Order: sequence, then C-alpha cells, then structure tokens
Amino acid sequence: MIIHFVEHSAMVLALCWLLTLNSRNWETHNRLAKLTSGFLLGLATVAGMTMAIELEGGWVFDGRSVILSVAAFAGGPVVGAIAALVAAGYRIWLGGGGAVTGVGVIAVSVLFGLAYRYLYLQGKLGNSLLTLFCFGFILHLLVLAHFALLPVSNSLDIALQMGVPMLVVMPIATVCLAWMLEDIKRRSQDERELRIAATAFEVHQGLLVTDKDSRILRVNQTFSDITGYQAAELVGKKTVMLRSEGHDPAFYQAIKQQLMADGRWQGEVLSKRKNGDVYPEWLSVSVVRNNKGQLSHFVSSIEDMTERKAAEAQIRGLAFFDSLTGLPNRSLLLERMQHVMDAASQSGRYGALLFFDLDGFKSVNELHGRGVGDKMLREMAERINDALYASDTAARLGADQFVILLENLSSARQHAAGRAEQYAVRLKKILRKPYLIQGLELYKSVSVGITLFKNADDGADTLLQEAEMAMYQAKASLKEGVNFFDPAMQAAVSTRLRLEEDIQRGLLAEEFIPYFQPQLDAACQVTGAETLARWQHPERGLLAPGAFIEVAEQAGLVELIDLQMLRQACQQLALWQQNPDTGSLILAVNLSARLLYQANFVETLLAYLQESGANPRRLKLELTETMLLDDVSTAIERMQQLKTHGIRFSIDDFGTGYSSLAYLQKLPLNQLKIDQSFVRELSESASSEAIIRAICALADSLELEVIAEGVETFQQYHKLLELECRNFQGYLFGRPMPLLEFESWLAAHQPSLFYQQHNEPRRAPL
Ligand code: C2E
Ligand code: CA
Ligand code: CA
Repeated sequence: MIIHFVEHSAMVLALCWLLTLNSRNWETHNRLAKLTSGFLLGLATVAGMTMAIELEGGWVFDGRSVILSVAAFAGGPVVGAIAALVAAGYRIWLGGGGAVTGVGVIAVSVLFGLAYRYLYLQGKLGNSLLTLFCFGFILHLLVLAHFALLPVSNSLDIALQMGVPMLVVMPIATVCLAWMLEDIKRRSQDERELRIAATAFEVHQGLLVTDKDSRILRVNQTFSDITGYQAAELVGKKTVMLRSEGHDPAFYQAIKQQLMADGRWQGEVLSKRKNGDVYPEWLSVSVVRNNKGQLSHFVSSIEDMTERKAAEAQIRGLAFFDSLTGLPNRSLLLERMQHVMDAASQSGRYGALLFFDLDGFKSVNELHGRGVGDKMLREMAERINDALYASDTAARLGADQFVILLENLSSARQHAAGRAEQYAVRLKKILRKPYLIQGLELYKSVSVGITLFKNADDGADTLLQEAEMAMYQAKASLKEGVNFFDPAMQAAVSTRLRLEEDIQRGLLAEEFIPYFQPQLDAACQVTGAETLARWQHPERGLLAPGAFIEVAEQAGLVELIDLQMLRQACQQLALWQQNPDTGSLILAVNLSARLLYQANFVETLLAYLQESGANPRRLKLELTETMLLDDVSTAIERMQQLKTHGIRFSIDDFGTGYSSLAYLQKLPLNQLKIDQSFVRELSESASSEAIIRAICALADSLELEVIAEGVETFQQYHKLLELECRNFQGYLFGRPMPLLEFESWLAAHQPSLFYQQHNEPRRAPL
C-alpha cells in the first residue's frame, strides 16, 4: 500500500513539476500564466485521478488533495479555482456513487489551501517544512474524517485501513510540492534579476568584476572598448595586466588598504591599453562581501579621461598661456605665485619676482612694423626660457613686459637679494645681445625691477605691482643696474595716487584759483602781474603749486589746471579793462609743456578771449625753454598763430636750459625771464652777474624785454638796474596775492611811496 502511495505521489509530483515550468514562460503575462497554470494543475489532478489506487469496495484514492491544496496555496484563488473546476468536472463526468464525495474532497482541498494562503500572506503562518507538513497533515485528517463520516457501512474500516499511509505520505508530498513550486518561483525571479543586472552592466562606463584575488570574472563591452581587450582575453587573468608604469606598487597598496578600510576607493589612475598606450582613467572600486561579511568580489567602474583631459588642457592653454610666446600669462603666473608664496611662508626662504621691461620697444614696432616686433618678443621669450632653471617660472604680462618668479633663494634677505640681482644681471646681458631679424640687427636694453617675498600676506597682485614700480624706478634712474622695490617708494606712490584723485575732484569743484604777483618796470610802475596757481583745498587749506604741480604734470592733469587759470585770467583782464587804472595791466600766465602741443589749444584760448572780451594784447604766456625744444616747429607754429592775435610770450626760468641763439631767433618772443636762482646769487657769485649781463645783452640784440624774478632786496634791484634789466618781480615789491588783496595793493602802490616805505633813495634808471 505504501509503495502504491509513493509511486503515485512521485508521478503526480513529476507531472506537477513539468506543468509548473509553464509559469516561467508566462512571467510577462501574469494573468494568462495564472489561467494556464490553473488549467495545467487541473490536468495534473485529472492525470492523478486516472491512476488512482483502487481499494476493495470501489473506493479510489489519489493525490488530488495534495495538488489542489498546494495549487490554491501557491497560486491563489484563480489558479486554485480553475484547477478545482477541471478536476471536479472530470470527477463528475466519471460519475458513480463517490462523485459527490470526490467533489467534496476537491472543494475542501482548495478551500483549505486558500485559508492557509490567507494566513500566510497575513504573516500569521510561515512556510517552513514543519508548517507545511502540519498543513498537509491536517488537510488529510479532514479528508479522512470526511470518508469516515460517510453513511456507508464499512467507511470506518476503510478510513482506518488508509489512515496511516495517507497521513504519512500525503503531507510529505504536500511539503515537496509546495517547495517545488516555491523553488520554481524563486528561480524565475532570480533569472529576471540577473537579466536586469546584465543589462545594467552594459552601460557607458567600463565595468569590471573580479574575485577576491583580483582575478577577472567579467567585463562589459565599454570596458573592452576602452582597454582594447576582449572579454575572453581578460577573464581568468589578474588585473595587474591593466596597470601602467605610471604608479609605483605603493600606490596600489594604498588603494587596497583604503578598500579594506572603507569598502570603496575612487580616484585618477594611469592605466595601459592593449596597444601599450597609457591613458588617464577615473576608477571607482567597491568591495562586495557575502552574507557572512567575507570579501568575495571587487566591482570596478572606469571612465576614460583622455578626451576630457585634452579638452581641459586646451582650455587651460587658451586661458593660461600667451599666444605669441607660449609663455604663461598673468593668470597662470598669479596662480603659480600663490603656490610659491605659500611654500615660502612654510620654508621661511625668500623668493623673488623679477620684472623685465624692454626699453623703447615701441620704436621697434613703429620703425620696423609689428611683424619684426613680434619676432623680437618671441626671441626674447626663447632667451628667457633657455636661461631659466627648472624651478623658475617665466611669464609674459604685457607687450614687452616679462616676469620671472624665483623660489627658494635663501632665508637671509641680503643673500636672497644678491642672488636675485645676479640672476637679473645675467638675464639683462642675455637680452641685450643683438636680435637678428629680417636682416636687421636690433639692440635693446631692459630695465629690471625686483621685489623679494617670504610670506603670502601681501598677495600676488601687490607683489607684481611692487616689482613693476621698482622697474619704472630703474627706468627713470637711467641706471644700468637693476632696482629693488623699496616700501618707502610704495608709500610715495600711493600718496601720489590719492593726490591725483584729489586733483581731479578739485578741478571739478573749480578749487584752483589765481594769485597775483605784481610785475614792475624800471620806474617802479606796475605793468601787470603773474598769475600763480593756488589750490583752495577744502580740508588742507590753501596749497601752493609745490604741493600739486608735479603730480598733476605726471598724471596729465596740469593742462586742465592751466586751462582753468587761463580762463580766469581772461575774465580778470576783461574786468580790469573797464577801469582806466587797471586797463593797461598785462597778465602773465604759466603754461605747461603739454598744453601748447594740444591740437585744439589755439582755438580754446581764442575762445576764452572772445567769450570774456579780454584784449589778447594784455595776455602773456610764460613758457619754459625745455618744453619748447620738445617739438620746436610745432611750438613755433602755435606761437605764431597766437601772436597774430597779439598774445605775448615770455621764456620762464631763462638761463637754466639750453638757451640757444638758434631757436631764440625763430621763436616769436617778447620777453626773457631771468631765473630767480641767478638773482638770488647775484651778490655772492660773479658768474650769476655775468650770466644776467649776457642775458640782457642777448635780449637787447634780439629786441626782447628782460624781467628778473625773485627780487627780494633793494640791493638786488639796484644791481639789476645796473645790469640793464628793466622789469622786476619779487617779494621786494609784492608777494603773490589773492585778487582783492592785489587790487588794494595796486590802489596803494605809488613808486615814490614805495621808496619811502623802504627808506631807500630813489635811483633813476640809467
Ligand atoms: P615760476 O613760474 O617760476 O613762479 C615763480 C615762483 O617764485 C612762484 O612760486 C612765486 O611765488 C615765487 N616767487 C616770486 N617772487 C619770489 C621771491 O622774491 N622770492 C622767492 N623765494 N620766491 C619768489 P609758486 O607760486 O610756488 O610757483 C612755483 C612754480 O609753480 C612756478 O614757478 C611755476 O613753474 C609753477 N606754477 C605756478 N602756477 C602755475 C600755473 O598756473 N600753471 C603752471 N603750469 N605752472 C604753475
Ligand atoms: Ca612763471
Ligand atoms: Ca620762473
């Protein structure tokens, strides 16, 4: 009997296994899978029923309870119901006295299976072997009870006869079938996940899976594309074959250590392709551990960085290198300086910045064209590059400006300065050698400014400014040597910059006004005045030209001051013209070099005269010799134009410049103004006397007036009279005065009174 049951169960199980394979193929069509599974399970039940064990008295037993209960439990109501319908249909078709009982067993099995499923899904029952066995046991106890209670005479006997084998074999069959179905379900789920994983594996990143000994198990297509190795060439080999010589073993050791500690590592690595090319890749490695926490695999992803690096390098090249010479540009220099300065702070050793500027490079471009200029700069850059030591950086800042950054010179300032200077002198020599370009032999000297640094406090920009300042100082001093930056110089420069801004503000606020210093003739009659600029500064009070003229000249602002003075002088002349006492006064106005050369100067001045209504004959312009020599022909042209309108000209500070007869003759002058230094030294120095005498003779021969300025004493005045000077200006007569004071001085001034006031006898001019 037992053998029967076993045979029967085995057959049913085998059938079920075949049938349930179906569920795999239908994974994407869930509903259809359920319908067919139900149908097939029903057929399996029917197959079981055809091979039923027949007992005496027409009783049959088969595995329907096992199949249907498990079908309901594992497949749910739809599968269970369909299988039940098929089985019940067959049983009814068979007919006979046991049909009702048979269908009853079918119904009980399915309902019991569903009840178990319900409790299982609710989490109230598990699916362990024991639980499944109990499930099968109780189910078949119910089936047995069902038989035992049948209103048939020998039912109890039969139930007892079958009971033991049924309650042993059937629950075991239930357990096996349930497990089989569970296994099939799990396997098809695993397969699905594997397929997803395999698809995910083929991404645009190269993927590599190795075992714990770094032996390659699997790579994806991208990995093959990047490395050039096909999967078959890699699988089974160790990853060492992918390494380049770009890293030492310690590097890989460090990666391994971090992997063990953190479970992951990522960074840039130089690897080798199949063809031997070394390339940069971004590598991320993760450790895979099994459920016992033991290392089982490494999964790595790689990204080829060759193209990105190339693009980066190109962008870097454009942004950080000068296109003409290929030297680093300002941005890269500043970046590099920051590093070097940081390093200097740490090491305590001085570094230096050498600022080179070619003297008169502009003329190369102007004389020979830009092509020659460019070639010369390229050659310079090459010479600088060749002369550099490995640790130094050279950069091109502007047209003809190069900078060299030296590091790690010395911890003693003096010593560092010495080394920097040696370096600069050596380079100067190299750069001074002739440049042979397009058949030309060009010679150029360079000026060098140097600044030393030992920490990062100053900032790279400031250091560059310092070196540049030192270079300009070197240029200005016309020294052959090199010039070091001096902090005092910087203070002066910043003061100057502030002053420049202040002058601009003062010009807008019209704070520059004329003071008037009288000019007199030999009879001590006032002939006019010189206007001298004063700055009525809102905070600093009244400022004399010494405080601002030089800075204004350098900043190109003095022309604007002069124009304001000229306009005010014109207005004043116009006012004085209306009064007979002042109508003949002549105003002398100082003019800076640049203003005369300005293209529209003549028009501007004539416009001032016209607007104010001043008589041009009452205006005298004081120019210095040196400025006239800059461009004699333009100066003559301009002066001639103005002279036709009656404007007068005086040469200021005469005797201190090159005083040459040749140009004096050509200039349309009215007056020579003897410089005050000769007047001051008149009593002590015979040469001053001789010079004044010569100037007076010269003026006489050229039919020019002579005026002496800086006359402070009667002694000087008398001496000048003796030397045939006929016009005077100086503190002896009057200091520069504001308008109102000057006008009252004018009103009070009388030559005779003047002598009395000074208690001096009046001397008639000779
Ligand atoms: P400068 O044109 O040679 O002017 C004469 C300077 O000598 C004036 O100084 C005047 O105050 C001073 N001075 C006059 N008499 C005596 C004297 O008896 N003894 C001494 N020790 N000094 C005397 P200031 O006003 O300080 O002007 C200095 C210079 O500033 C001027 O020299 C002139 O070159 C320049 N300057 C003044 N005003 C202007 C201006 O409006 N435009 C331009 N471009 N330069 C001006
Ligand atoms: Ca003057
Ligand atoms: Ca003067």
